[in-house]
Amino acid sequence: MTQTATDETAPAPAARRPALSPSRASDFKQCPLLYRFRAVDRLPEVPTRAQLRGTLVHSVLERLFALPQPDRLPERAKELLEPAWTELSSARPEWTELFAEDDESQVADWLTDAGRLLDSYFALEDPRRLEPEACELHVEIELDSGVRLRGYVDRLDVAPTGDIRVVDYKTGTAPREIGEAKAMFQMKFYAVVLWRQRGIVPRQLKLMYLTDGQSLAYAPDEPELRRFERTLEAIWQAILKAGKTGDFRPSPGRLCDWCAHQSRCPSFGGTPPEYPGWPEPDPGEETPLDRAD
Ligand code: SF4
Repeated sequence: MTQTATDETAPAPAARRPALSPSRASDFKQCPLLYRFRAVDRLPEVPTRAQLRGTLVHSVLERLFALPQPDRLPERAKELLEPAWTELSSARPEWTELFAEDDESQVADWLTDAGRLLDSYFALEDPRRLEPEACELHVEIELDSGVRLRGYVDRLDVAPTGDIRVVDYKTGTAPREIGEAKAMFQMKFYAVVLWRQRGIVPRQLKLMYLTDGQSLAYAPDEPELRRFERTLEAIWQAILKAGKTGDFRPSPGRLCDWCAHQSRCPSFGGTPPEYPGWPEPDPGEETPLDRAD
Protein backbone atom coordinates (compact mmCIF):
# COMPACT_ATOMS: atom_id res chain seq x y z
CA MET A 1 0.00 0.00 0.00
CA THR A 2 1.37 3.39 -0.97
CA GLN A 3 2.06 5.70 1.96
CA THR A 4 1.43 9.42 1.53
CA ALA A 5 2.88 12.56 3.09
CA THR A 6 4.16 11.07 6.31
CA ASP A 7 6.93 9.02 7.78
CA GLU A 8 7.07 7.12 11.05
CA THR A 9 10.27 8.88 12.02
CA ALA A 10 8.86 12.38 11.40
CA PRO A 11 7.98 14.40 14.52
CA ALA A 12 4.54 15.88 15.12
CA PRO A 13 4.08 19.29 13.45
CA ALA A 14 3.93 21.05 16.84
CA ALA A 15 7.54 20.02 17.50
CA ARG A 16 8.91 21.65 14.34
CA ARG A 17 12.30 23.25 14.73
CA PRO A 18 14.36 25.37 12.34
CA ALA A 19 15.48 23.12 9.52
CA LEU A 20 17.10 23.23 6.13
CA SER A 21 15.02 22.15 3.14
CA PRO A 22 16.52 21.36 -0.27
CA SER A 23 14.83 24.37 -1.88
CA ARG A 24 16.06 26.85 0.71
CA ALA A 25 19.57 25.35 0.77
CA SER A 26 19.63 25.63 -2.99
CA ASP A 27 18.35 29.22 -2.80
CA PHE A 28 21.16 30.19 -0.43
CA LYS A 29 23.77 28.54 -2.61
CA GLN A 30 22.40 30.32 -5.66
CA CYS A 31 21.92 33.71 -4.03
CA PRO A 32 21.91 34.50 -0.27
CA LEU A 33 19.60 37.47 -0.85
CA LEU A 34 17.05 35.21 -2.57
CA TYR A 35 17.19 32.95 0.50
CA ARG A 36 16.54 35.97 2.72
CA PHE A 37 13.56 37.14 0.65
CA ARG A 38 11.99 33.69 0.74
CA ALA A 39 12.91 32.29 4.16
CA VAL A 40 13.39 35.35 6.37
CA ASP A 41 11.21 38.11 4.87
CA ARG A 42 8.82 35.43 3.57
CA LEU A 43 7.81 37.70 0.70
CA PRO A 44 4.88 36.30 -1.23
CA GLU A 45 5.49 34.99 -4.74
CA VAL A 46 2.64 34.67 -7.21
CA PRO A 47 3.07 31.33 -8.96
CA THR A 48 3.05 31.20 -12.75
CA ARG A 49 0.57 28.98 -14.58
CA ALA A 50 3.50 26.67 -15.41
CA GLN A 51 4.41 26.32 -11.71
CA LEU A 52 0.80 25.65 -10.85
CA ARG A 53 0.58 23.07 -13.62
CA GLY A 54 3.56 21.30 -12.02
CA THR A 55 1.83 21.27 -8.63
CA LEU A 56 -1.29 19.86 -10.29
CA VAL A 57 0.60 17.11 -12.11
CA HIS A 58 2.41 16.11 -8.90
CA SER A 59 -0.96 15.87 -7.16
CA VAL A 60 -2.42 13.74 -9.99
CA LEU A 61 0.56 11.35 -9.93
CA GLU A 62 0.17 10.95 -6.18
CA ARG A 63 -3.54 10.14 -6.67
CA LEU A 64 -2.72 7.78 -9.51
CA PHE A 65 -0.53 5.65 -7.24
CA ALA A 66 -3.34 5.50 -4.70
CA LEU A 67 -5.44 3.61 -7.31
CA PRO A 68 -5.24 -0.18 -7.63
CA GLN A 69 -2.35 -1.09 -9.94
CA PRO A 70 -4.45 -2.22 -12.95
CA ASP A 71 -6.33 1.12 -12.93
CA ARG A 72 -3.22 3.28 -13.37
CA LEU A 73 -3.92 4.11 -16.98
CA PRO A 74 -3.40 7.36 -18.96
CA GLU A 75 -7.14 7.99 -19.27
CA ARG A 76 -7.68 7.51 -15.53
CA ALA A 77 -4.82 9.92 -14.82
CA LYS A 78 -6.42 12.56 -17.04
CA GLU A 79 -9.75 12.05 -15.30
CA LEU A 80 -7.98 12.98 -12.07
CA LEU A 81 -6.90 16.41 -13.39
CA GLU A 82 -10.16 18.28 -12.77
CA PRO A 83 -10.85 16.93 -9.26
CA ALA A 84 -7.24 17.60 -8.29
CA TRP A 85 -7.54 21.20 -9.55
CA THR A 86 -10.84 21.64 -7.68
CA GLU A 87 -9.17 20.53 -4.49
CA LEU A 88 -6.04 22.65 -4.97
CA SER A 89 -8.00 25.77 -5.90
CA SER A 90 -10.40 25.31 -2.96
CA ALA A 91 -7.43 25.26 -0.61
CA ARG A 92 -5.78 28.26 -2.34
CA PRO A 93 -8.61 30.33 -3.97
CA GLU A 94 -6.08 33.02 -4.97
CA TRP A 95 -4.64 30.58 -7.52
CA THR A 96 -7.82 30.84 -9.59
CA GLU A 97 -6.91 34.51 -10.17
CA LEU A 98 -4.29 33.35 -12.67
CA PHE A 99 -7.17 32.64 -15.06
CA ALA A 100 -9.72 35.11 -16.46
CA GLU A 101 -13.05 34.61 -14.72
CA ASP A 102 -15.03 35.09 -17.94
CA ASP A 103 -12.94 32.76 -20.12
CA GLU A 104 -13.30 29.09 -19.20
CA SER A 105 -11.12 28.08 -22.12
CA GLN A 106 -8.04 29.32 -20.21
CA VAL A 107 -8.42 26.65 -17.52
CA ALA A 108 -9.42 24.05 -20.13
CA ASP A 109 -6.28 24.77 -22.21
CA TRP A 110 -4.13 24.69 -19.10
CA LEU A 111 -5.60 21.32 -18.08
CA THR A 112 -4.88 20.04 -21.61
CA ASP A 113 -1.25 21.14 -21.19
CA ALA A 114 -1.10 19.29 -17.88
CA GLY A 115 -2.50 16.22 -19.70
CA ARG A 116 0.48 16.41 -22.09
CA LEU A 117 2.87 16.17 -19.14
CA LEU A 118 0.98 13.07 -18.01
CA ASP A 119 1.38 11.61 -21.54
CA SER A 120 5.13 12.21 -21.17
CA TYR A 121 5.08 10.46 -17.84
CA PHE A 122 3.38 7.36 -19.27
CA ALA A 123 5.92 7.28 -22.12
CA LEU A 124 8.67 6.98 -19.47
CA GLU A 125 7.21 4.22 -17.28
CA ASP A 126 4.17 2.05 -16.66
CA PRO A 127 2.84 2.76 -13.15
CA ARG A 128 0.89 -0.53 -13.21
CA ARG A 129 4.24 -2.29 -12.78
CA LEU A 130 5.23 -0.29 -9.70
CA GLU A 131 4.14 -0.25 -6.07
CA PRO A 132 5.93 2.67 -4.40
CA GLU A 133 6.47 2.61 -0.68
CA ALA A 134 5.36 6.23 -0.49
CA CYS A 135 4.41 9.31 -2.50
CA GLU A 136 4.91 12.90 -1.28
CA LEU A 137 6.80 11.50 1.67
CA HIS A 138 7.74 13.92 4.44
CA VAL A 139 11.28 13.16 5.54
CA GLU A 140 13.19 14.76 8.40
CA ILE A 141 16.37 14.01 10.26
CA GLU A 142 18.72 15.69 12.70
CA LEU A 143 22.37 15.14 11.85
CA ASP A 144 24.94 14.47 14.60
CA SER A 145 26.06 18.08 14.16
CA GLY A 146 22.56 19.22 15.22
CA VAL A 147 21.62 20.42 11.73
CA ARG A 148 18.05 19.44 10.94
CA LEU A 149 17.11 18.51 7.36
CA ARG A 150 13.52 18.40 6.13
CA GLY A 151 11.80 17.87 2.81
CA TYR A 152 9.26 16.02 0.69
CA VAL A 153 10.20 13.16 -1.61
CA ASP A 154 7.95 12.84 -4.66
CA ARG A 155 8.14 9.06 -4.67
CA LEU A 156 10.06 6.37 -2.85
CA ASP A 157 10.38 2.93 -4.45
CA VAL A 158 11.76 0.10 -2.33
CA ALA A 159 12.58 -3.19 -4.07
CA PRO A 160 12.05 -6.59 -2.37
CA THR A 161 15.86 -6.66 -2.01
CA GLY A 162 15.64 -3.48 0.11
CA ASP A 163 17.16 -1.29 -2.62
CA ILE A 164 15.84 2.26 -2.45
CA ARG A 165 15.06 4.45 -5.44
CA VAL A 166 14.23 8.13 -4.96
CA VAL A 167 12.08 9.54 -7.77
CA ASP A 168 11.48 13.20 -8.52
CA TYR A 169 9.19 14.55 -11.26
CA LYS A 170 10.40 17.70 -12.98
CA THR A 171 7.73 19.79 -14.65
CA GLY A 172 9.40 23.22 -14.81
CA THR A 173 9.97 25.36 -17.86
CA ALA A 174 13.54 26.53 -17.13
CA PRO A 175 16.11 25.10 -19.58
CA ARG A 176 17.17 21.68 -18.42
CA GLU A 177 20.89 22.49 -18.26
CA ILE A 178 20.12 25.27 -15.76
CA GLY A 179 17.93 23.12 -13.55
CA GLU A 180 19.96 19.92 -13.63
CA ALA A 181 22.64 20.78 -11.05
CA LYS A 182 19.93 22.18 -8.77
CA ALA A 183 17.84 19.04 -9.20
CA MET A 184 20.78 16.76 -8.40
CA PHE A 185 21.55 18.85 -5.30
CA GLN A 186 17.95 18.26 -4.17
CA MET A 187 18.20 14.52 -4.83
CA LYS A 188 21.46 14.18 -2.90
CA PHE A 189 19.80 16.06 -0.03
CA TYR A 190 17.06 13.41 0.09
CA ALA A 191 19.66 10.66 -0.26
CA VAL A 192 21.50 11.95 2.84
CA VAL A 193 18.26 12.09 4.85
CA LEU A 194 17.19 8.57 3.82
CA TRP A 195 20.68 7.15 4.36
CA ARG A 196 20.81 8.62 7.88
CA GLN A 197 17.24 7.52 8.64
CA ARG A 198 17.46 3.98 7.32
CA GLY A 199 21.16 3.21 7.24
CA ILE A 200 20.96 2.39 3.52
CA VAL A 201 22.46 4.44 0.71
CA PRO A 202 19.73 4.81 -1.96
CA ARG A 203 20.65 2.70 -4.98
CA GLN A 204 19.28 5.21 -7.46
CA LEU A 205 18.25 8.86 -7.66
CA LYS A 206 15.93 9.26 -10.63
CA LEU A 207 14.79 12.53 -12.19
CA MET A 208 11.86 12.31 -14.62
CA TYR A 209 11.61 15.35 -16.89
CA LEU A 210 8.00 15.48 -18.01
CA THR A 211 8.36 18.52 -20.27
CA ASP A 212 10.77 16.74 -22.61
CA GLY A 213 10.02 13.11 -21.72
CA GLN A 214 13.51 12.20 -20.56
CA SER A 215 14.91 10.79 -17.37
CA LEU A 216 18.23 10.88 -15.60
CA ALA A 217 19.43 8.30 -13.10
CA TYR A 218 22.32 8.62 -10.69
CA ALA A 219 23.82 6.18 -8.18
CA PRO A 220 25.32 7.92 -5.13
CA ASP A 221 27.87 6.25 -2.86
CA GLU A 222 28.52 6.61 0.85
CA PRO A 223 31.72 8.72 0.71
CA GLU A 224 29.93 11.13 -1.62
CA LEU A 225 26.94 11.43 0.72
CA ARG A 226 29.30 11.95 3.64
CA ARG A 227 30.94 14.83 1.79
CA PHE A 228 27.55 16.20 0.77
CA GLU A 229 26.39 16.06 4.39
CA ARG A 230 29.34 18.30 5.30
CA THR A 231 28.34 20.68 2.50
CA LEU A 232 24.82 20.92 3.94
CA GLU A 233 26.23 21.57 7.42
CA ALA A 234 28.44 24.32 6.01
CA ILE A 235 25.48 25.90 4.19
CA TRP A 236 23.43 25.90 7.40
CA GLN A 237 26.30 27.50 9.36
CA ALA A 238 26.65 30.16 6.65
CA ILE A 239 22.89 30.82 6.79
CA LEU A 240 22.98 31.20 10.60
CA LYS A 241 25.95 33.57 10.33
CA ALA A 242 24.20 35.72 7.72
CA GLY A 243 21.01 35.52 9.78
CA LYS A 244 22.71 37.14 12.77
CA THR A 245 24.03 40.11 10.82
CA GLY A 246 21.45 40.34 8.04
CA ASP A 247 24.30 40.24 5.53
CA PHE A 248 22.59 38.31 2.73
CA ARG A 249 24.30 39.43 -0.47
CA PRO A 250 22.87 39.24 -3.98
CA SER A 251 24.65 36.86 -6.30
CA PRO A 252 23.37 37.58 -9.80
CA GLY A 253 23.39 34.86 -12.42
CA ARG A 254 21.31 33.25 -15.14
CA LEU A 255 18.62 32.18 -12.67
CA CYS A 256 17.80 35.85 -11.97
CA ASP A 257 15.46 35.59 -14.99
CA TRP A 258 13.26 33.37 -12.82
CA CYS A 259 13.54 35.48 -9.64
CA ALA A 260 10.30 37.11 -8.45
CA HIS A 261 12.22 39.73 -6.44
CA GLN A 262 14.26 41.61 -9.05
CA SER A 263 12.45 44.86 -8.19
CA ARG A 264 13.86 44.68 -4.62
CA CYS A 265 17.31 43.47 -5.61
CA PRO A 266 20.28 45.92 -5.55
CA SER A 267 21.77 44.11 -8.56
CA PHE A 268 18.73 45.32 -10.53
CA GLY A 269 18.57 48.83 -9.02
CA GLY A 270 16.13 47.88 -6.22
CA THR A 271 16.28 48.25 -2.45
CA PRO A 272 15.52 45.33 -0.10
CA PRO A 273 13.07 45.95 2.74
CA GLU A 274 14.59 46.60 6.16
CA TYR A 275 16.01 43.37 7.61
CA PRO A 276 13.34 41.96 9.93
CA GLY A 277 15.79 39.86 12.00
CA TRP A 278 16.25 36.11 12.12
CA PRO A 279 12.86 34.41 12.58
CA GLU A 280 12.71 32.50 15.85
CA PRO A 281 11.24 30.14 16.67
CA ASP A 282 10.52 28.47 13.34
CA PRO A 283 6.79 28.74 12.63
CA GLY A 284 5.01 25.39 12.84
CA GLU A 285 3.53 25.61 9.37
CA GLU A 286 5.57 25.00 6.26
CA THR A 287 5.12 27.53 3.46
CA PRO A 288 3.72 26.59 0.03
CA LEU A 289 7.22 27.21 -1.32
CA ASP A 290 8.66 24.64 1.06
CA ARG A 291 6.03 22.15 -0.04
CA ALA A 292 6.99 22.77 -3.65
CA ASP A 293 10.58 21.62 -2.96
S1 SF4 B 1 17.45 38.96 -8.90
FE1 SF4 B 1 19.18 37.53 -8.86
S2 SF4 B 1 20.69 38.49 -7.50
FE2 SF4 B 1 18.73 39.49 -7.12
S3 SF4 B 1 17.78 38.39 -5.41
FE3 SF4 B 1 17.02 37.47 -7.30
S4 SF4 B 1 18.42 35.77 -7.70
FE4 SF4 B 1 19.45 37.13 -6.23
